[in-house]
Amino acid sequence: MRFKIALIGFGAANMLFLAYIASIKPELLDDTAIIDPQFNGGSLQNSWPQVRSNTVWQQFVNSLQKFKATASYAEQIANEYPLDQPTHLHVLAKHLRKAIEPFIRRATLFKDSVVNIEGEKSNYTLILKNKQLQAEKIIFSPGSIPKVFNYPIPTIPLSAALDSRQVESYISPGDHILLFGTAHSGCLALKNFLDAGARVSVVYATEKPFLYARDGEYDGIKQDAAVIADSILVGTSPVDLIHYTNQEEVLSAALRASWACYTIGFMLDDITKSIIGNSKYDPHSARLREDSEIYGFGIAFPSCTTIEGKTFWDVSIPSFTEHILKTNILSTVSSE
Ligand SMILES: Cc1cc2nc3c(=O)[nH]c(=O)nc-3n(C[C@H](O)[C@H](O)[C@H](O)COP(=O)(O)OP(=O)(O)OC[C@H]3O[C@@H](n4cnc5c(N)ncnc54)[C@H](O)[C@@H]3O)c2cc1C
Repeated sequence: MRFKIALIGFGAANMLFLAYIASIKPELLDDTAIIDPQFNGGSLQNSWPQVRSNTVWQQFVNSLQKFKATASYAEQIANEYPLDQPTHLHVLAKHLRKAIEPFIRRATLFKDSVVNIEGEKSNYTLILKNKQLQAEKIIFSPGSIPKVFNYPIPTIPLSAALDSRQVESYISPGDHILLFGTAHSGCLALKNFLDAGARVSVVYATEKPFLYARDGEYDGIKQDAAVIADSILVGTSPVDLIHYTNQEEVLSAALRASWACYTIGFMLDDITKSIIGNSKYDPHSARLREDSEIYGFGIAFPSCTTIEGKTFWDVSIPSFTEHILKTNILSTVSSE
């Protein structure tokens, strides 16, 4: 039960990391442990499968092409969808898994959750719910959970808000919804609520209700979300747009709302928080602790871009790919 590498979590980020191992040091695959309680594609498949990606097919194909081990698979699937169009997230999860299937078979899989990591400097003990493993290097990509506020109003989970069929099971026509957030997922949830016949009060925290990529905003909305925002700004939908500093209006909407929904970003879950403790993540080296061999990737530990003093976290398959390739943490590992 001793491994050179342990991948904790097997969503998009660590699937890409496995493609990286297979490309740069394939002999390490036989010495790799992968731990995940589900092994079913992470959030792309579990939480928002029916959402269309905010990146286009070409970007997904390009990401797979960047790894030697998945380049030929990328070529095979390149023509399956229009290159300039987004696809549903379950399509990305499926192809990611298929691209790395031969490499998954060589690793040792544990259907379990890591609850703690002990030890230091290339000698770690991973405490799982049901057993313990030893590893020299840890790649920690546990994903994140949606942030929420504590308004005393029943909450529609983000995963349900992003699936039109589930929305209809929560709300009835005429219901009033209080929706926080106007980025990509906020726009998609807003459309689902309106399609179900609801009236929606939308609380935003940016200088304008919607920030668009086409206006040069780094993290601005594009694709489906931009089309939805354009239709809202025409002004004919039953939507109130409220800036969060207007507390009187927010409170008044909260008193009328039968449901709240929060699309305000993501945070680490409690187990991940307790595993990392006070460690300070360094996006440049991807190290979770200074001088340690514990690295983080994915939505929990992304790379970042700073523009005019403002930090943007880069969360997408293309940016996870860049992060893994740029940090290139296996370049000095021997397979002896
Ligand atoms: C509306 C919406 C649209 C999005 N669109 C895109 C898009 O177009 N492209 C894109 O790339 N991303 C998109 N995302 C973000 C997407 O969810 C993430 O990019 C992606 O799922 C993150 O991958 P990950 O591997 O970091 O985490 P996850 O996919 O969440 O995977 C984490 C895995 O770790 C496991 N895990 C957690 N804790 C432990 C533990 N303690 N021990 C063992 N295993 C553990 C979980 O079971 C899970 O399988 C979107 C998100 C939303 C909300």
